[in-house]
Amino acid sequence: MPLDTARPESRPERLTAHEARQRLEHERDSRLVQLKAIEEAGREADDHPMAVQKDSLQRVLKDIGAAFGRVDDGTYGTCQECAQPIPVERLEILPYARCCVGCQRRSA
Ligand SMILES: [Zn+2]
Repeated sequence: MPLDTARPESRPERLTAHEARQRLEHERDSRLVQLKAIEEAGREADDHPMAVQKDSLQRVLKDIGAAFGRVDDGTYGTCQECAQPIPVERLEILPYARCCVGCQRRSA
């Protein structure tokens, strides 16, 4: 799938549901591939650092699943903390972001 297809001059403030799903599917698929690789490689050595890596992948997959839910209920791209739109640039980097940078910092 080509990622840099022609971009419109003025960027829309939000991703369409279709774009959001595509990005999330892409993220999910690459995480699933990584998870599978870890599971296959980690059959004998089932502790560090494989387990840690596996945990974080599973956490991200959960976040991605939750983001799919937000696409469905129309809240995708809205900060879960302050209800402001999450900038598209942030969603392009982190499609499953549930809050804006400001709120992320405050909660970290
Ligand atoms: Zn916020």
